[in-house]
Amino acid sequence: MAQMLINGALVNSASGKTEEVRNPATGDVVDTIARGTAEDVEQAVGAAQAAFPAWAGTPFARRAEVLYKAVALLREREKDLATLLTREQGKPVRESVLELRRFGSTIEHYAGMGKNVRGGYVPLIDKGKYGMILKRPIGVCASIVPWNFPVSLLGNKIGPALLVGNTVVVKPASSAPLTVIEVVRLFLDAGLPPGVMNVITGPGSVAGEALVRHPAVRKIGFTGATDTGRRVMALAAEQIKRVTLELGGSDPMIVCDDADLERAVSAAAVGRFFNCGQACLAIKRLYLFEGIYEPFVAKLVERAKKLRVGNGLDPDTRMGPLHTDGQRREVEEQVQEAVGRGAKILTGGARPEGPEYAKGYFYLPTILVNVPEDARVATEEVFGPALPVWKVKTLDEALEKANRSIYGLGSSIWTSDLARANLAAERLEAGYTWVNSAQIIYDELPFGGVKQSGVGKEHGSEVLDYYMETKAVVMAPSPE
Ligand code: NDP
Repeated sequence: MAQMLINGALVNSASGKTEEVRNPATGDVVDTIARGTAEDVEQAVGAAQAAFPAWAGTPFARRAEVLYKAVALLREREKDLATLLTREQGKPVRESVLELRRFGSTIEHYAGMGKNVRGGYVPLIDKGKYGMILKRPIGVCASIVPWNFPVSLLGNKIGPALLVGNTVVVKPASSAPLTVIEVVRLFLDAGLPPGVMNVITGPGSVAGEALVRHPAVRKIGFTGATDTGRRVMALAAEQIKRVTLELGGSDPMIVCDDADLERAVSAAAVGRFFNCGQACLAIKRLYLFEGIYEPFVAKLVERAKKLRVGNGLDPDTRMGPLHTDGQRREVEEQVQEAVGRGAKILTGGARPEGPEYAKGYFYLPTILVNVPEDARVATEEVFGPALPVWKVKTLDEALEKANRSIYGLGSSIWTSDLARANLAAERLEAGYTWVNSAQIIYDELPFGGVKQSGVGKEHGSEVLDYYMETKAVVMAPSPE
């Protein structure tokens, strides 16, 4: 059984209750976890609160040392952790390896930023006086992560939080908490003092809410569904807590008639089918210029048909199952609604057949055309391997349609015309725009959605400000 981590110790929940974590490819039980409640949250937050003064007073260099060491330990265990991640999450092992490496490079990125944390000196208009800007850690932070990239999304939160001296209580998703627990244990092995980072498991509606509501938790870094983010924000508002919300998206990709087709097709296929389409940043709506529509769609369908669907533990698998049966049903309903209203399925639109697929939540890579613009696949987030495609005549039309969404996370355009690229970068309503590039996230750049895709930023140097308080001090050298 996988236990929670509180104050440096592995513990069961106070209630003694447990729940199962299942493999999405086979339905087999991978392990059981503690079903934590408010009582356990109290213990974890108490430990984090007690550990805060000493950790906040630890020099940056020492904090960074622990982060670097944890990554070194993670690398030693890459193989078995990647297998565990695939067994609980479903993604192909090669994607699990990428996720762990991504986590490692994010943590190292923050470990290296310690020397860049600085406040400021400001000469003031009153003669002789000057101002100082101090940056200080906030206190206990909650890091709440979903199941789609449980490890790398954790890195985005704990990297900056720990570096600047906060203490943390982590709440992983109930359906994919096992690798997160193992990864946090590595930080303890690397010398992180007990209580600085704790892990609580248990239902989001119980353990997650108790964590968000706890008066000693001063900052919530949350990644998950937009509706849950709304709830977290409302609860946080009661005590005016700081929140960073990374929520859903429906990223448009525009391909102009002067684009490099081969590369754009590849970006669309990888961008839609990576992690079985269960990514916040993913190509979720495709707008093709008329001139390239036919060849582009033909190539994309060919790619989708070739994608090998299967158990993520099989090294030949290129797309695993959806994470849960509920997740699969949701995608099926979204696709069926579009079909019922005239959309045509060019490939996929069904579960794969065969005994190897009988117990898992598999669904074929799906391409849809003739989709009504108010169909669910157009207006909602599609968290699975289904891609609606539309034909457009002009860039204006493409941009207008691309922006017709409550979301604003990622976006991309493929063109060889600099003027078109600039116009799109200016007008696309999103936190990120890629020009002639796959949707790759860089630690060096700020990441975070606009509109209902979120509030606040992760990555970049900006993120440090989201984990620190800024204080102004006025100094009058001689008393007034
Ligand atoms: P959920 O919002 O259901 O869950 C996310 C996390 O929040 C889980 O740990 C969950 O715990 C917890 N949680 C659930 N309810 C509450 C609550 N009331 N209070 C506090 N915590 C709670 O999202 P999913 O797991 O379904 O993840 C998929 C969603 O995440 C998609 O919409 C996707 O777009 C979004 N996402 C956004 C990203 C971004 O950076 N913008 C990146 C990745 C995903 P439990 O599992 O126990 O319910």
